[in-house]
Amino acid sequence: MDFLDDIRGMKFFDMHAHMSSRTTDDYQAMADAGIVAVIEPAFWLGQPRTGVDSFRDYFASLVGWERFRSSQFGIRHYCTIGLNSKESNQIELAEQVMEILPLFIYKEGVVGVGEIGFDDQTPAEEKYYRAQLELAKEANLPVQIHTPHRDKKRGTTRSMDIAVEHGLDPGMVIVDHNNEETVKEVLDRGFWAGFTIYPFTKMGNERMVEIVKQYGSHRIMVNSACDWGISDPLAVPKTAALMKQKGISDHDIRMVTFENAVTAFAQSGQLSLDELEQPLTIDQSQKFNGSTILRGGQAPRIAKESITIR
Ligand SMILES: [Zn+2]
Repeated sequence: MDFLDDIRGMKFFDMHAHMSSRTTDDYQAMADAGIVAVIEPAFWLGQPRTGVDSFRDYFASLVGWERFRSSQFGIRHYCTIGLNSKESNQIELAEQVMEILPLFIYKEGVVGVGEIGFDDQTPAEEKYYRAQLELAKEANLPVQIHTPHRDKKRGTTRSMDIAVEHGLDPGMVIVDHNNEETVKEVLDRGFWAGFTIYPFTKMGNERMVEIVKQYGSHRIMVNSACDWGISDPLAVPKTAALMKQKGISDHDIRMVTFENAVTAFAQSGQLSLDELEQPLTIDQSQKFNGSTILRGGQAPRIAKESITIR
């Protein structure tokens, strides 16, 4: 892939990637493009859950199997744990989820409470958003906020107002899915501004280049949000390559595709810049609870450049 030539030697941290929905091919391509770490925020499954055990197993997989699967491609995997806004509207279930959250947020690799906030901006969403801000404050963890697609400007302002009302330091809050309409207020108020490069709906990376030209690289970070939908797990390295072609400095590229996310989420005490500068050693014969990523006699690390598949 041509764009890889522009970014050779660079390291990337995709701070919003729903890896449970992605394949091993995606992991391999991400590693090959320089992605050294990801954050997987807890979200929905694409269809309604029928009970709290579905959340329990999902949270356990985020700190367990998925973290292991990622490590097998040399990518450090972190997650944020929370009750997402969409599912906050199933009140009976939401109450049960709130009860199990404290069992997961203190686990190794959990770098924040997320992704939480507003979707349709309902009273139930507000209730559980507030309760989880309190949880994050108590645990001294960063918060990863999902901002709504509909009525985004108002939803984003409201999310920040409520976080401040609960006494959270804006420096502990990452407001995600920003666009040209929201970025100024988020930065002016001292919050971190995440941008999701997502084909057709959220942001294109040409628009992202313009934002960095206008606002610089301070407290801005980009991600792919790669999930069940049509999305691109290489959105972060591709955006870096485009920035490079458009004359953005290596320093600014590094800040928005790697270092700002490290600084923001290092406040959890679960990761550090020193650690992320070191490569993760890969041994695909390792096991997690007795399982490997290899199936029936597969050899570790398949050579992707070969057209023959054995
Ligand atoms: Zn998400």
